[in-house]
Amino acid sequence: MKLYANVVIDISSEKLDKIFQYEVPGHLQKAVYVGVQVLVPFGNGGKRRRGYVVGLTEKARYDPEKIKEIDQIDDAGMPIESQLIGLAAWIRRNYGSTMNQALKTVIPVRQRSAKKEKKRICLLLEKEEAKERLAFYKRRHSTARERLLAALLEDPQLDYEVVTGKLNVSASVVRALEEQGVLSIDRLRDYRNPVQGLTQKSAPVALNAMQTEAVRRIRENAKSFHPKPCLIHGVTGSGKTEVYMELIKDAVKEGKQSIVLIPEIALTYQTVMRFYNCFGARVSILNSRMSQGERYDQFERAKKGELDVMIGPRSALFTPFPNLGYIVIDEEHEGAYKSETMPRYHARETAIQRAKMAGAVVVLGSATPSTDSYYRACAGEYMLVEMHERVHKKQLPACEIIDLRTELRERNFSILSRKLQELIEDRLKKREQVMLFLNRRGISGFVSCRSCGHVVKCPHCDISLSAHGGGKLVCHYCGYETPMVLKCPACGSPYISGFKAGTEKIEQTVKARFPDARVLRMDMDTTRKKDAYEKILSAFANQEADILIGTQMIVKGHDFKNVTLVGVLAADLSLYVGDYRASERTFQLIAQAIGRAGRGEKEGEAVIQTYSPDHYSVRAAAASDYGAFYEAEMMYRRMMRYPPVWNLLVILVASEKEELASAAAKYATEYLEASNRAQISKEELLFVGPAKPAVAKVNDIYKRVLYLKCRAYDTLVQIKDHVETYMQSYPAYREITMQFDFNPMNGF
Ligand code: ADP
Ligand code: ZN
Ligand code: ZN
Repeated sequence: MKLYANVVIDISSEKLDKIFQYEVPGHLQKAVYVGVQVLVPFGNGGKRRRGYVVGLTEKARYDPEKIKEIDQIDDAGMPIESQLIGLAAWIRRNYGSTMNQALKTVIPVRQRSAKKEKKRICLLLEKEEAKERLAFYKRRHSTARERLLAALLEDPQLDYEVVTGKLNVSASVVRALEEQGVLSIDRLRDYRNPVQGLTQKSAPVALNAMQTEAVRRIRENAKSFHPKPCLIHGVTGSGKTEVYMELIKDAVKEGKQSIVLIPEIALTYQTVMRFYNCFGARVSILNSRMSQGERYDQFERAKKGELDVMIGPRSALFTPFPNLGYIVIDEEHEGAYKSETMPRYHARETAIQRAKMAGAVVVLGSATPSTDSYYRACAGEYMLVEMHERVHKKQLPACEIIDLRTELRERNFSILSRKLQELIEDRLKKREQVMLFLNRRGISGFVSCRSCGHVVKCPHCDISLSAHGGGKLVCHYCGYETPMVLKCPACGSPYISGFKAGTEKIEQTVKARFPDARVLRMDMDTTRKKDAYEKILSAFANQEADILIGTQMIVKGHDFKNVTLVGVLAADLSLYVGDYRASERTFQLIAQAIGRAGRGEKEGEAVIQTYSPDHYSVRAAAASDYGAFYEAEMMYRRMMRYPPVWNLLVILVASEKEELASAAAKYATEYLEASNRAQISKEELLFVGPAKPAVAKVNDIYKRVLYLKCRAYDTLVQIKDHVETYMQSYPAYREITMQFDFNPMNGF
C-alpha cells in the first residue's frame, strides 16, 4: 500500500495552504502520524528541510512519479508544534472545517511588529524651580545636565532616544537626574510586554478553609494517573480566582506553564493586576485589540520560556507553552468560548483535548455553570468542586421579583418600578452606588406600528432595525442606516415608534427621575472607542458616578465595593429569543447581575423586574438556587432531546441565490432521509428543517438551516462527513457554501 503525507514546510507563514505531498516509504509507514516532524527534500536542489505532517492519504494528488519521498522522521522530544498540529487535526475532525482553517486557528502566523520598547523622559519640576536648577548647572559647568534641562523646559516630555541620541546625554546622567527627582523615565506600555509598568501592591491573601479544600482536591486529582477536568461551581465572590492562582503556583514550582481563559469583556486591569501581583512579569496577556504581530510576539515569548502564565480570551488556548500544567477557563458558561467562524470549536472541549495531549489539567470555574459542564460533572466525567459561600461569609444579595404587569395595571408607566425607584433614592441618599442592567441580548429597540403591527426591517438582512439617538434607524448586522420613519411604511399610520426601551432611553428616564444623580451608560455605542470600556468602569469604580446603566457588559468581572443595589430592568427580554439555550442564558445573566451587589463591606440588594415572574429561570436566579434551575432545565432538555443529553448538529447552506440555498438544503435533506432509512434507526437520529433561520438573509446572502439531533456525537461527525462528500455532487455546488455547527451556543 502506498501512503502519502501532506507536509507544511514553513509552519507559521501566511502560506499554510501551501501543502506539499511526499510519499511515505514503507519502513516509515508505522512511525508517521499527523503532527510528526519530518525531513524532506525541498526545491530544485533537493535541499533538506524540516516540515510537519498535517495529513495522511492513500491517494496521490499529483503524478505519483513526481512525488518525492520523506527522508527521515524526527520524533525526538515531540515539539510543541507537533502537539498543536495534532490538535488542529482533532478540531478539523470534530467541528468540520478544512485542515487549513484549523491550522490557522491553532498556529499564529509570523508577523513581527516593528515597534520597540519606548521610554519617555518627563520633567517633574515646576518651571521656576527648573530655571533655578538650570542656572545652577550652568555655574557648575555641568553641560550635559544643562542641555537636557534646557530641552525639557522647552518641551517637558522627550523621547528617550532623542535625549541619548540628538542631545547626546548619557544614560547615567539621565538616571542621576531621575534619582534627584528632576525628571522621570516613563516606560510606555508596549507590545513586547503588555503588563510592563504595572506596579505590585496588594499583599497576598491566605486561603480560607473552603478554598484550601478546593485546592487540595484539584491538586490530588492532578497527581492521579488520568486526571479529570475539574469544574468549580463557586458562587460569585467565593474566591475562585485565588484558587486558580494557588494551583498555577504549583505548576510554576514544577516548571510548568498555565493558560487562563477569561471572557474578553472581563479581561480588565483589575483581573490582570491580581495575576501580576502573584506572578510578576512572567504573566502576559492577549486581547483582540492586538495586531497579529503583537500576538505572535507573545506566543514567541511563551515558547522561549519567558512566561509562566498567559491570560486571554478563547484564542489564548493555543499559546505554545512547551510544558503545560493547567488550563483554567473562568466563567466557563460564556457563549464567547464558542467560535462563531469556521472552525466553530468550543474552547472548553478543545482545552480538554489539548490537556489530554499535553498531560495538563483543565479547571473550569463559574457561579452559573453551563448545563453542559454540570451534566458531565454529575455523570462523573468531570470532578465537581463546590464553593457555596462568599469569602468572609458575606451574604448573597437579598432579591425581590417585581411583576411588571402589576405595575402597569396600577398605572405606573415608567421603566422603573416603584420599588426600584424607592431603593435608588435610598442609595443616592446614603452615597452608595447602583447598577441598572438591561438584558438586551439579541433584541434591540425595534420600531413597530401600533395600528397594524408592522415592524421596520433591514432590506438586506431581514431583521428589525433599531432606533438610535439622532433620529436614525440602524441595522445591527450589516450597519445599514435610514432616517427614523414618521409614518408606517405599510399602512400610513402615524402611531409608529420604538417599542422597547434601549439603554439610552433608560438613561433619559433615570436622569429625569433623579436629576442630581451622576449617571454613566455602558453599551455598544459608548464603548466603541479604544479603552472606553476600561475608562467607564474605572470612573465608576472611583465613585465618579452614582448609577451605571448597561447591557450584559456590566455584569462581568469588576468588583465594585460600593455597589449595594442592582436592578435588572426587564429580566425576560432574553427568554424568548427562540433558541434552546434562552432559559439558561437568562438564568446566568440574572444570577451574574445579582452577584454584582454587596461585594464590599455593606450588604447588597437586588430587584428583578419581569413580565414572567413565575418562570423557573427567573425564580431560581432570584433565589441563587442553581440546583433548582438545573433540574427544571434538564427536564426540558431531556424531553426535547437537546444538548447536553443529545447532541445537535446544525448544517447551514448559504447562497447568493435564494432558490439555490433552498434547493441545496432540500437536496441534503433528501439524502439524509434516504440514508437514515437505510442505515440508522429513527430513534437515533432526528431531523428538523430545512428552515429559514431567525435571520434568513445577511448582506444579501440567503441561508437555510437543517437541524440534526443524535445521542452520539461521533455519529453526527460521520453524518457531517457523508453530507459534505455527497453535496459535491450537487449540480450548483460551486454557488453554495456549507457550514457546520455542533451544539451551537449563540443561535444561528
Ligand atoms: P470569584 O472569582 O469567585 O468571584 P474572587 O477570587 O474574585 O471571587 O474573590 C472575591 C474577592 O475576595 C476578591 O476581592 C478577593 O481578593 C477576595 N478574596 C478571595 N479569597 C480571599 C481570602 N482567602 N481572604 C481574603 N480575601 C479573599
Ligand atoms: Zn402600520
Ligand atoms: Zn442589515
